Amino acid sequence: MWEAWITTNALHHLLASITFAIIGLVVIARRRALRRSVRHAPRLFWITVALCALLAAWNGACLTEILMGLHGHTTLISGLCEWANLITLSGLILALVYNRLVVERTSRPRRILAIGAHPDDLELACGATLAKLADAGHQIQAVVLTGGERGGNATVRPLEARRGAQFLGCNAVFVYDFADTRLREQANEILSAIEMRIREFNPDIIFTHSANDQHQDHQAVYEATLRAARNHGTILCYESPSVTSDFNPTFFVDIGDYVDVKIESIRQHRDQRLKPYVSAERLRGMALFRGGQAKTRYAEGFEAVRSLASSLGDI
Ligand SMILES: [Zn+2]
Repeated sequence: MWEAWITTNALHHLLASITFAIIGLVVIARRRALRRSVRHAPRLFWITVALCALLAAWNGACLTEILMGLHGHTTLISGLCEWANLITLSGLILALVYNRLVVERTSRPRRILAIGAHPDDLELACGATLAKLADAGHQIQAVVLTGGERGGNATVRPLEARRGAQFLGCNAVFVYDFADTRLREQANEILSAIEMRIREFNPDIIFTHSANDQHQDHQAVYEATLRAARNHGTILCYESPSVTSDFNPTFFVDIGDYVDVKIESIRQHRDQRLKPYVSAERLRGMALFRGGQAKTRYAEGFEAVRSLASSLGDI
């Protein structure tokens, strides 16, 4: 009877120790996917890793003591450990299910072209919107016109542009190497590049910079996009950190839980991590402010150059 208890208990602790070790390692290996699919991902990540490490070690200690014949002392601790296993596992599953991002899949997928001057522009301005639309099943292509060499590391930033867009769920990313801060001097070339992307993708909706933006590259991209998209129904201008006080959004996307995804997408741009406008506090504040204007919690705001109902579908 006693031997049977020892064998069963030892087996429980062995399986529990292995299970928690595996869960911890999987969460570490898949942390990027976790950050893309749940709210409060950084906090959830560290709590999960810490609890898995604790429970793997605790179960390992109980197993060792049982195998060493110290079961007389460990009956109570072993029982507590088994309860802790149960509670932790249930808690982790509930936390993951409760915090997962839920978005309704669209029955009318749209083609969306998002155009930005610099590697982090799209994530900063409309990252949450793009992630939400990608999860809903819309097709998204991202265009980044410069490698951002004047604002950071010229080798790293184009790679970060691809990583950021892929993190959001864009189906394709095109990173060009037009000269950073000198897009006005290359107006015809960027016009041709945007025209080619529009011709190939035939987007229903185009996201681009606003006319009310003090960055000369952003203005140049806005002007080139309007010229290139002269035959397209819906053009929405997003809010970069450099927009002027004249930026006046009238179209809002309710981004709900996607603020965390936006913040994580901007963290893909490690080269820009010291810039003041990438702080989570500021990004959350902006989303709250636009959410207040839109009578929801969090939102991203857009100026509509024009918005055609049939292009927008159920967005
Ligand atoms: Zn920019």
